[in-house]
Amino acid sequence: MPNYPDIQLFIDGQWRHGAEGKTLPIIDPATEEEIGRLAHATRPDLDAALEAAEKGFGIWRNTSVFERYQIMRKAAQLLRERKDDIAWLMTRDQGKPLAQSAMEIGVGADTIDWFAEEARRTYGQVIPARAPGVTQMTMKLPVGVVAAFTPWNFPVNQIVRKLSAALATGCSIIVKAPEETPASPAELIRVFQDAGVPDGVVNLVYGIPAEISEYLIPHPTVRKISFTGSTPVGKHLAALAGEHMKRATMELGGHAPVLVFEDADLDNAINVMAPTKLRNAGQVCVSPTRFLVQENAAEKFIDGFVSAMESTKVGNGLDPETEMGPLANERRIPAMEAMIADAQSKGAELVTGGDRIGNQGYFFQPTVLRNVSPDSAAMNDEPFGPMALINTFKTHDEAVHEANRLPYGLAAYAFTSSAETLQKLGREVESGMLTVNHVGLALPEVPFGGIQDSGYGTEGGSDAVEPYLETRFVTALT
Ligand code: NAD
Repeated sequence: MPNYPDIQLFIDGQWRHGAEGKTLPIIDPATEEEIGRLAHATRPDLDAALEAAEKGFGIWRNTSVFERYQIMRKAAQLLRERKDDIAWLMTRDQGKPLAQSAMEIGVGADTIDWFAEEARRTYGQVIPARAPGVTQMTMKLPVGVVAAFTPWNFPVNQIVRKLSAALATGCSIIVKAPEETPASPAELIRVFQDAGVPDGVVNLVYGIPAEISEYLIPHPTVRKISFTGSTPVGKHLAALAGEHMKRATMELGGHAPVLVFEDADLDNAINVMAPTKLRNAGQVCVSPTRFLVQENAAEKFIDGFVSAMESTKVGNGLDPETEMGPLANERRIPAMEAMIADAQSKGAELVTGGDRIGNQGYFFQPTVLRNVSPDSAAMNDEPFGPMALINTFKTHDEAVHEANRLPYGLAAYAFTSSAETLQKLGREVESGMLTVNHVGLALPEVPFGGIQDSGYGTEGGSDAVEPYLETRFVTALT
C-alpha cells in the first residue's frame, strides 16, 4: 500500500516547492481527512515554467518523430507497470472505485501509445504546380508551447489526451492539473520524466486556476490552449484565447440524452445504462442524464433501472466491493440537493435516493426523478452527480426534439433494434458523439468532443493530432 505523498510542481525537469512556499490541503473525499499538501504555483513559478517550456520546445521540435515515439512508448509501458500504485493514489484523492481508477490508467497508457504512433503519420503534401520547375509542398510543424487546464473527474485521462497529442507532434507543454486530485497527475508526469523526455518539455503546476489561466493564456510564449471543464469557464477562456489569437480546444459540459425506444432490448438498456450513470458517481461530462423512454417501455425500464440503482454498493473506493464512491468534493453535495429540491418543487416524483449518505465523506444516494419539468434546473444544467431524470415520449420526433432542446451537444445514447431509427438518429441528434445499444465512447482511436456549447475540437481519433500542428507552405522554382 503506497503512502499518499505531498505533491510538488515539476518545472524544467525538477520537482520543486512553490517559489513562495504556499501549499494547499488535499482531502480524501471518503473520509474528509487531510491526506497531504500540494505545492501552489505563483507568478515566479509560472515564469520559470514558461521559460522552461520555451527551451523544451527548442529541443523537442528537433527530436526526430521516431525518437519521440520511442520515449512515449516507454512512458506508456512505465504507466502500465505502475498502474496499481497510481490507481490507489487516484482513489484516495478522487474517490472513484479502485477498478475504475485502474481502468482509467490502462486507457491512459493506450492513449499515449496511440498518439505516439499516429504522429509518425503526420504527412505533408506535394502539390502539382501550374508552372514548370516549380515545387509546391506543405509541411506539418508543431504549433509550440501548449497550456493545458484539466479537471478533477478524470485526473489522468483529461491530461493524457492533451499531453500525448502535444508530445507526439513535438510541442512542449505546461499542464495546470486539478488541485483536488493532484497525485495521479504527478505520477503521470513522472513516467514521462523516467522515460527520458528532456527537461523543460513537460511542466506541471497547480494553484489558483483563474490566476494561472489569466497569466498563461495571453502570454506570448504560449501558442495553444486546451481546456476541459464547465461551459461557463470554457467560454471565458475561449474568449481570452481569441483575444490573443491563440488556438484553442474546448471540451466542455454536456447533458446527455438517452433515447429508449419501445423496440429496444430493455434488459440490455438497463444493464448498460445503470452502471454508466453511476460511473465516477455521475461526475462525467458524457454521463447519461435525460432519460427519454417511449411510453410502452417506460414501466419495465424504470423498474429495472431503479432496482439496479438501488442495489449498487456505495462506499469507500478502496474497498474492492465498492461500485460507486463518494462525490469528489464537498460542493457537489449542496449542488445535488438544490437540484433535487428544485425539481420536486416543479412537480417531479423522487423515485429513489435524494439524500446524502451518512455525515462523513461526500457520499450521495443514487437518485432517480421522473416526470421532471423541462424548466427544472436539473433538466437544463449538468447535475454532475448520481442523478437520472426520466421522462416519457410518444413519437420519434418528440424524443429527438427533447434531445436537441438544450444548447449542449456532447454525447447522446440510444437503444433501438431498428436500423432505420438508428440511421435517422445519426443525422438528427445534435451531439458530437452518439452511442447506440452499447457504450463505445472515449477510446483513444475514436473522436471525443462536442458541438455547440459543449465546445470545439476533438481529443481522440486522428483529428486530435491536427490542432497541435501548423501547416506551412513552401514553393520553390528550381
Ligand atoms: P468549476 O467550473 O469551478 O471548475 C471546473 C474546472 O475548471 C475545474 O477543474 C477548475 O479547476 C477549472 N477552472 C475553473 N475556473 C477556471 C479558470 N478561470 N481558469 C482555468 N481553469 C478553471 O466547477 P467545479 O465545481 O470544479 O465543477 C462543477 C462543474 O464543472 C460541473 O457541474 C461540470 O459541469 C463541470 N465540469 C466538467 C468537467 C468535464 O469533464 N467537462 C469536469 C469537471 C467539471
